Amino acid sequence: MAGNGGTWKKTGCVLCAQNCGLELFVEGNRIAKVRPDKDNPRSQGYACRKGLHIAYFQHHAQRLTHPLKRVGGTFQPISWAEALDEIADRLREIVGRNGPHALAYMGGGGQGCHFEAAFGTSLLRALGSRYHYNAMAQELTGMFWVNGRILGKQYLHTLPDDRETDMLVAKGWNGWMSHQMPQARRHLLAISKDPHKLLVVIDPRKSETAKIADIHLPIRPGTDALLTRAMIAIVLQEGWQNQAYLDRHASGLDEILPWFKDFDARAAVRVCELEYEAVREVTKLFAHRKSSLHSDLGVLMGRHSTVTSYLEAILLTLCGRIGVPGGNVLPGTIMPLGSHSDERDPKTWRTRETNFPAIMGYFPPNVLPEEILAEREDRIRAVMVSNANPLRSYADTTAYEKAFGRLDLLVTIDVAFSETAALSHYVLPALSAYEKWDGTFFAWTYPEVFFQLRRPVLKPQGEPWEEGEIFLGLAERLGLLPEGLDALSRAAEKDRAAFGMELLQFLGKNPKALAVVPFVLAKTLGRAMGSSHLAALWGLLQTAPTTFQENAARAGFRPGPLMAEEIFQAILDHPEGLWVGKCDPENNLASLQTSDGKLQLFIPELADWVKSIQPETEQEALKPDPQFPLILMAGRHMDMNANTLMRNPAWNEGKRACTLAMHPEDARRLGLEDGRAVRVTTEAGSVEIELEVTESARPGHVVIPHGFGLEYEGRVYGANVNRLAKNTHRDPLAGTPLHRYVPCRVE
Ligand code: SF4
Repeated sequence: MAGNGGTWKKTGCVLCAQNCGLELFVEGNRIAKVRPDKDNPRSQGYACRKGLHIAYFQHHAQRLTHPLKRVGGTFQPISWAEALDEIADRLREIVGRNGPHALAYMGGGGQGCHFEAAFGTSLLRALGSRYHYNAMAQELTGMFWVNGRILGKQYLHTLPDDRETDMLVAKGWNGWMSHQMPQARRHLLAISKDPHKLLVVIDPRKSETAKIADIHLPIRPGTDALLTRAMIAIVLQEGWQNQAYLDRHASGLDEILPWFKDFDARAAVRVCELEYEAVREVTKLFAHRKSSLHSDLGVLMGRHSTVTSYLEAILLTLCGRIGVPGGNVLPGTIMPLGSHSDERDPKTWRTRETNFPAIMGYFPPNVLPEEILAEREDRIRAVMVSNANPLRSYADTTAYEKAFGRLDLLVTIDVAFSETAALSHYVLPALSAYEKWDGTFFAWTYPEVFFQLRRPVLKPQGEPWEEGEIFLGLAERLGLLPEGLDALSRAAEKDRAAFGMELLQFLGKNPKALAVVPFVLAKTLGRAMGSSHLAALWGLLQTAPTTFQENAARAGFRPGPLMAEEIFQAILDHPEGLWVGKCDPENNLASLQTSDGKLQLFIPELADWVKSIQPETEQEALKPDPQFPLILMAGRHMDMNANTLMRNPAWNEGKRACTLAMHPEDARRLGLEDGRAVRVTTEAGSVEIELEVTESARPGHVVIPHGFGLEYEGRVYGANVNRLAKNTHRDPLAGTPLHRYVPCRVE
């Protein structure tokens, strides 16, 4: 307790995937103060400016309080029962008439509220569709596809062992601003200041992270694949590969070696506009130190995205840096972030018009406009959007506007009346992250496994619902729940042990109910607990895989039938979050799921793509287009953006938040001055924006942050960079957007 009846309450930030621990001082049901939570074992009192402004996420004029229905050009309040009845009727009609392929779900809980995904995907699948569009396929699925081949499953991945590494290479990653590791600024500064450690940044810009780096390689935009191929060639030509590691842990080496044998690394480095000796030195250090590598959107949203991820995995393997202390390690999780959907299996769904397969179970948001606008019977006609704002978050706002305008049914579930809500037929209010039980499976750490369950710390205004309840309401109306849940409900009222026994018996007799088990849990245990999300977490822990149980045992939980219940109770007892597991650092490569337990270096489907990345062809491909002579980096992490979650611009008042960053040389050449309005044009569209002339930009390269162009109380704040990004400008394998390489002109 502290002053005037207010209370400090423990929770977590939902504005980026680090989910730092926060304490909120709640007074009169409002967040009056925010401080980092020192008790959170993962973030340990660390939070950035965004988290400290979380009150702007919670309290603003666009919060949704009641279900809305679009009638003509306006929205009218409607009761929950009417809204769910009508939506269920329309879903039944569309799926009945056009088949399950007509339905898509776009959501999964964003940065901090992942529990809805269990319900959204269960509803989708119970209606026969697999079309789950998710932000993961906006950024990461090319890398996850590569992981599926090299590590054995798409949901496995590696991250730097940040505590043990003595050389961290940040490629296209401005960790100072985008975080992506616990306590990012503390860690990056510590590495940078430690005379025995090296921070190397490979980035076209003099980013905030590049400014504190020991070595900065200011790579030419669009040449990440070429540079990585050159680094591999240097390793092999100099004989720096870790042969003992390769003999023990890698397969397929013989097939890939010819790709690099005669590769002209010097010519490649010239095209990358870097000094050969500097690249050779970084490569040598990488091959001989306890090195690790982290790539971010500069690479994942750059040219040759998927193949760059592949080349990086080859480089790491050749240098013996996967699954070893200080290298890139496979973290443990309480729940993987997706499934394994191998496109070679004919059962894996593909998009109908654009023929992209699911990766990790996700389809790329970039192709959805084409899947809706296609002139075909089996096009998408109904979309359920949940906690996402594709009209601002995904590439090509113009294409999305056109496509969503053609849908027979668009439902948006959100906490705020977003730009996507404005186009919807129905808008359903969700409880905010601070009004419900929820959590995230993003908080990767190594070797420990972390989890924090956020609890309601504020009372809702109006009548928003938990997302799980909303999907349950639809599932019930669509007749998707099994009969005979009364005994389960009665057991749930007694205790969880009795419920567990009853559930086992019920599923034994009703195996088909397994397909909708989140709804069974929500309807029975969820009612007793007062939260469908809590019930889903309980169910998740009961079915946790053996690897999680082994990790949990290492963290002190007793193996045996009561382990899941013990972990669940510990999670409830620790609102600040806790370590729920610990990986075995001595045996990290045991997590591989390949057939021979080794890293599989040869991916035949990518062979031609790798071989096509040559200095001459790249030089030709990178020649500026006279119509669009500059390269736009469409999206930039900064302290003043948080996707589209912070709708009230007041949190940035007095700051220069949304500008076009341009190097002074380019500004002089174009006769443009700092502070004036300029027009930026690409093949997708055109926006007006304030010019910021800064040495941190690279000549020929301009930058606009993402997350702006939001409409608030009748005004639009900043430029929407997704007007400038064409949805068809994407990775050919994963469909992820090439946001970091958008040819443009500035006038
Ligand atoms: S935005 Fe990210 S780094 Fe900043 S406080 Fe929130 S979770 Fe932590």
